[in-house]
Amino acid sequence: MEPDRVLTRYADRILHLHEVPARDAVVEPWPEWVDPRVRTAFAAQGVTHLWAHQAEALAHVHAGRHVVVSTGTASGKSLTYQVPALDALVRGRAGDAIRGHRAPTALYLAPTKALAADQLRRLPRDEDGAPLVRATTVDGDSSLDERSWARDHAQLVLTNPDTVHHTLLPGHERWARLFAGLRIVVVDECHHYRGVFGAHVAHVLRRLLRVCAHHGSQPVVVLSSATVSEPEASARRLTGLDVVAVTDDASPHGPRTIALWEPPLVGAAHPSQPPSRRSAGREAADVLTDLVLDRTRTLVFSRSRRGAESIARGAQERLGEVAPELPARVATYRGGYLPEERRALEDRLRSGDLLGLAATNALELGVDVSGLDAVVSVGFPGTRAAFWQQVGRAGRDGQPSLGVLVARDEPIDTFLVHHPDAWLGAPVEATVFDPDNPYVLGPHLAAAAQELPLTEADLALFGPRAREGVDALEAAGWLRRRTAGWFWSTPAMARASRAGAVYVHQGQVHVVDEYDVEEGVAVVHAEDPGWSTSARSTTEVSIVSTRRTRRWGATTVHLGEVDVTSQVVSFSRRRHDGSLVGEEPLDLPSRTLRTVATWWTLPPDVVERVLERTDVPGAAHAAEHAAIGLLPLFATCDRWDLGGLSTAVHADTGTLTIFVHDGHPGGAGFAERGYEVVERWLRVTRATIDDCECRDGCPSCVVSPKCGNFNEPLDKAGAVRLLDALLDGAPDA
Ligand SMILES: [Zn+2]
Ligand SMILES: [Zn+2]
Repeated sequence: MEPDRVLTRYADRILHLHEVPARDAVVEPWPEWVDPRVRTAFAAQGVTHLWAHQAEALAHVHAGRHVVVSTGTASGKSLTYQVPALDALVRGRAGDAIRGHRAPTALYLAPTKALAADQLRRLPRDEDGAPLVRATTVDGDSSLDERSWARDHAQLVLTNPDTVHHTLLPGHERWARLFAGLRIVVVDECHHYRGVFGAHVAHVLRRLLRVCAHHGSQPVVVLSSATVSEPEASARRLTGLDVVAVTDDASPHGPRTIALWEPPLVGAAHPSQPPSRRSAGREAADVLTDLVLDRTRTLVFSRSRRGAESIARGAQERLGEVAPELPARVATYRGGYLPEERRALEDRLRSGDLLGLAATNALELGVDVSGLDAVVSVGFPGTRAAFWQQVGRAGRDGQPSLGVLVARDEPIDTFLVHHPDAWLGAPVEATVFDPDNPYVLGPHLAAAAQELPLTEADLALFGPRAREGVDALEAAGWLRRRTAGWFWSTPAMARASRAGAVYVHQGQVHVVDEYDVEEGVAVVHAEDPGWSTSARSTTEVSIVSTRRTRRWGATTVHLGEVDVTSQVVSFSRRRHDGSLVGEEPLDLPSRTLRTVATWWTLPPDVVERVLERTDVPGAAHAAEHAAIGLLPLFATCDRWDLGGLSTAVHADTGTLTIFVHDGHPGGAGFAERGYEVVERWLRVTRATIDDCECRDGCPSCVVSPKCGNFNEPLDKAGAVRLLDALLDGAPDA
């Protein structure tokens, strides 16, 4: 591969080139305890020795320790749970399980159905190609027959947390064979369990372990994670167990070049709008064109399906002008393909017939694409872990590879391309969620009580707020206290209490046809009407309680509960160039969200020293926007998961206050993570605003797409002075 031509041609856009040196493998022999049948099956797949991190993980599992393996893409994480699971099951199947013990079983959990199905397909087989163990998937699509076969016969059940919550746990008596024999529980791709979804899964796992104990089993939990900060802490929080982490990746790869790319500033679409940058998608189409011309096998990741399609189309048009045979060798990969169609595309890519493929980030899960030379990420994919997973797909047999991050027009991307040292070296974000969220905990305590009465001892399992939760359920008449514990008292309400899964819908333009305030239901249809709407809202934040406080210099940083009351007062329509079509007042009721926030205050005399009184609201507002845009660098969240409010004088504090709060009832752990890393977070926010080459603010720094106040007022220069004052005296962290 010769990326030099492309890198030279676009030198003005490339802010930084980062070289990751090649890494040699560190190998270890197979441990003696592994059953020869299992070793033979892996040998048939070409696995004759282990990488050191795999051997380390196997040793932990064999010793009965719960373990999280947090290493890179293609580092053989699945082996670390397949080997101990198959070992236990193969012995059990042959009847050599110790007499008097139940036949061993194993449970595998993936974040999606597709990934569980993929895992089943890739299980090692014996010399005759027959399955080593009786394994099957169970999910929402399984028929009654399939479920009953799984209950009666399966040694290994592959499923997802939602099915555990809705099917396996409520019916645990019928699944007693599975639960009683459980030796290993696998939680694959556990970094996906974040935010409110992560809190739900944490309680599903606690309920699962409680039901196992009831049936007499104590499984070892093996988790796999992408490379994130503090995998051990996240895994402990997710399972409630003591977990050891394996993080030293000993798998080999060739040298890798990472290019950080910033599209040029192109002025405003309309005079009333701030300047913006050339779209990351157009830039990606250009670089894809050049890489394909050089016969470099390239995969482009885009946030939306539409984005992926237009990148592929752009490259095809440009290629058609210079090399008529090449457009056919560029394609789009999207969801909704039949399995055979997907396999055909994968094969074409592997063989080199396909030279360019544009995909959505959804390709991340459950699809095996290898044999690439270059990966282009259009916009930061949300987490550093996801970025490394994407660029980790490039690199054939120790060959050099190229990874490109094309920055989108928003603060986090700006920061990343301007500050490579802050993130290319060390992990930054941690997988964040808060199992103590009472809105999540309550329904799971109710579900747990339906499964088995809750005892005093169980409360410790569900965390420090469990007592409060049980008392509330008892007061509401859902639970009844007996000497043996708390019993579920309202069978008819059982279904109502089952918390649903969390779904996020993004990337598609919808028009709202009806909105029913009472029901909270909107009827929408997908269309692009040529204009977009934004809502003007008023928001008030009141402090309910303060949990923690830190001070340095004149600055005080708080973490606590707040009530966020907001009311949409009007909406405006704007054409795509940003010009206003019109604004209509609305009469909607206000809504209050009780959630967790972090807030920063500065005393009036300090504020007066650095800012004119009239500049204070704009400076605080701009700092708030940029801070919200950058918290995803530290917590696995999206700016849409957060909200904020800044005010020159807040009623509860009597001084300048900037709030950043979780957007979910009860909090999701993001504001808490922000509180913990506040010095670094504020420094990154200041640097991003200061580095941006725009004059008065743009989407790369302080202009927010989700502002309820139409980005008024904003004072970019004032925000830097204010952040300097907030950071004055801050400890180095
Ligand atoms: Zn800017
Ligand atoms: Zn705003």
